[in-house]
Amino acid sequence: MADIQGNPKQQLISELHSIAAAGDKAKLTALLSHSPSLINETAKNGWTALMYAARNGHFEIVQALLERGCDKSVTNASNQTALDIARFWGYKNITNLLANEKDELQPFFLTSQVREHENYFSRAFLDRKSEKRVDSKWLNLKQKQPTTVYILFSNLNPLVTSDDGEESFHYPKVKLCKLCYEDVKEYLGQTETTTWIFLGVELQVKSSLLPALNVKDPNEDDGLIAWFALSIDGTAADKFIQQRQGCYFLHPPFPALLQLSENEAGVIAEARSVLAWDSRYQFCPTCGSSTKLEDGGYRKSCLKEDCRSHQGIHNTCYPRVDPVVIMQVIHPDGNHCLLGRKKRFPPGKFSCLAGFVEPGETIENAVRREVEEESGVKVGHVWYVSSQPWPMPSSLMIGCIAAAVSTEIKVDNIEIEDARWFSREQVVDILNKRNQSAFAGPPQQTIAHQLMKHWIGMSANL
Ligand SMILES: [Zn+2]
Repeated sequence: MADIQGNPKQQLISELHSIAAAGDKAKLTALLSHSPSLINETAKNGWTALMYAARNGHFEIVQALLERGCDKSVTNASNQTALDIARFWGYKNITNLLANEKDELQPFFLTSQVREHENYFSRAFLDRKSEKRVDSKWLNLKQKQPTTVYILFSNLNPLVTSDDGEESFHYPKVKLCKLCYEDVKEYLGQTETTTWIFLGVELQVKSSLLPALNVKDPNEDDGLIAWFALSIDGTAADKFIQQRQGCYFLHPPFPALLQLSENEAGVIAEARSVLAWDSRYQFCPTCGSSTKLEDGGYRKSCLKEDCRSHQGIHNTCYPRVDPVVIMQVIHPDGNHCLLGRKKRFPPGKFSCLAGFVEPGETIENAVRREVEEESGVKVGHVWYVSSQPWPMPSSLMIGCIAAAVSTEIKVDNIEIEDARWFSREQVVDILNKRNQSAFAGPPQQTIAHQLMKHWIGMSANL
């Protein structure tokens, strides 16, 4: 509070937010006429005036802020937009206003009601440029460029540093150490102990002096900033951090990886999964011979000439992704949902049920089978909501809503030790971390949290 009291701008921002939360349109108009630049300013928790208005259901304030050109795409410290907040609290008129303002000329199937939801670990910060994986000349050139970014791993743990920037009072708390060629060149030649993966190039970053279309000499810079992941062995890793104050390998991965920014989490989702595949599949799965890593780290070819994997269609040469279904199961009354707890969960924690998809199974059937196996509840209709890469080491979480057709719970006591029907109010409490003594939910970076939130928004009843 001390710095707010001493800072007139902070005082004005605070006043604007109070006015938006209270819904006083006259005061809002007066303040913004006097200080229009405050419109998108955030509080320490990342909330804007638009969010406060949306949270408290003030339709006219939301309308006034939009008319004055406020930015509705701003996200708060919990990664929610004003639209998310309005939807979460069930203000349908505000939800429609925020959702449709830009979408009114789009056909109904492209409106925000079905817009893709971006989960943590999902952001495409890099263009993967898969066509460049086979271009060894280009990759060689990129590896040595001073603008190229390397992220370092040891035993699948990324090298990070504490984030003491302006945002340090809230998430994110750690950031990746971005290294350059000079920092890592001694490892690149050590193929026995080092693995490198080409991750992609930064989106929309091009040197204005060298537009790609005018590049004639292949040795000339195309302006693209490439990213590589580099994995070194334990001895080299220990030596490296001794020379780098403030850097450390983030361990254990969960929940530590949830402290990264959305952009960096997206990069880690790719890098960690591919490196995990490389370290776990040391030999050819078809004949057991040694393999060679190719295509920028995205393909392993068997060194035995007559191996079956060289003929026909084989997916054993490529990094794997393991599909997992995760589902918010809704009670037939529509007002309760089924959450369970695994034996290894901390006390009081409940989350959505989940399980691996088996061979020859659809997503819908995997949901029905897993729910019945773990809780005894039978499921009818299943809707897909969104997905989330989960690099521990390489799952793809497929988030669904599932309609229960029975209510009796009988847990399997193998994976799940308890499962219960929770009311909408209880789920809101869990999501907002209220009533902490009773139940805890999954972190907001998980798709389980997002599915619970999605259901609350979906069933909100004004
Ligand atoms: Zn082989």
